Amino acid sequence: MSKFIPNLADETLPALVEALTESGQAVSIFDAEDNLRYANKTYQGMFLGNYDGPFTFAGITRHAHRNGLGVRIDDGDVEAFLARTLSRRRSLPRKSFETDLVDGRWFWIDQTILPNGWILSVGADITALKQNEKALRQAHEAALKASQTDLLTGLASRRHILEQLDGMLAEHEASGSKLCIAVIDIDHFKAINDGHGHDAGDTVLRHFADMYRERVRAQDMLGRMGGEEFLLILPGAGADDAFRIIDRIRDRFPPAWLVEDGIDLSYTFSAGITEALKGDDRSSILRRADRALYAAKGEGRNCTTISVAAE
Ligand code: GH3
Ligand code: MG
Ligand code: MG
Repeated sequence: MSKFIPNLADETLPALVEALTESGQAVSIFDAEDNLRYANKTYQGMFLGNYDGPFTFAGITRHAHRNGLGVRIDDGDVEAFLARTLSRRRSLPRKSFETDLVDGRWFWIDQTILPNGWILSVGADITALKQNEKALRQAHEAALKASQTDLLTGLASRRHILEQLDGMLAEHEASGSKLCIAVIDIDHFKAINDGHGHDAGDTVLRHFADMYRERVRAQDMLGRMGGEEFLLILPGAGADDAFRIIDRIRDRFPPAWLVEDGIDLSYTFSAGITEALKGDDRSSILRRADRALYAAKGEGRNCTTISVAAE
């Protein structure tokens, strides 16, 4: 610690007080009875306006509240706010906290209890930091959502649906609850692209996603694995339930006559179902479902096949 001790007898003390008074920080000192003994200009602007007393903490807080000044009180109940604040105002020798004002600014307040019971409070304007924090949080949320969403269909992305599958498999392992998945693939999709154009192919993918949204239970999850292949996760469902659920999606098939954006065509899909088995991981269960899908294609497409046997 430095040995430097300012000489407060010379011009230093008035200079110090003037510096505090002009500072952009909000500085106040309350005595042990909570009478305001000093407030610099920034503090006065925040709490006092043209107030003419009494200059107690409670009096100032009530005045500020009545006149749209001071800290924001969420429920608008200034007496409850005072009861809360007064009881813990001197609970710690030193504390820091952030607070927002009625005018929208944010301050970081640093409070020190002096040995004689007086309270020194210094507040720094952190509004710009808070806005930055909010922008970063929003950007983070948007980026997270984008990484979890397939742009074309609005369904879960491959990464996201596979993470969901991992979570569901872990839950299945722990609780033994039923779990089924289905791999769904649009039939002859290449022919749709070739015959009607890539945009028509995209319309079919979006149509399939919409059809799904209308026809499944809230707890079911569909994600786009890539191209025209989808993964459906059905928690709590056995293979028979899954079969029925997929039939419900298939309700308008075959064929799904799709007249959208001037595109007039029909399409079907095939599905491979499997139930989760003990010890399954992402790749073992997907392999079984893929085998079932392959069988459905082999049976002429536009149908659902169940794969039960473990490898
Ligand atoms: P099958 O009935 O055996 O599934 O035949 P298929 O034609 O559907 O399967 P194949 O794997 O031969 O063709 C898939 C096609 O999907 C090839 C590719 O050009 C197309 N494709 C992949 N991703 C997209 C996409 O995002 N949009 C469009 N329009 N086409 C896509
Ligand atoms: Mg296909
Ligand atoms: Mg495919």
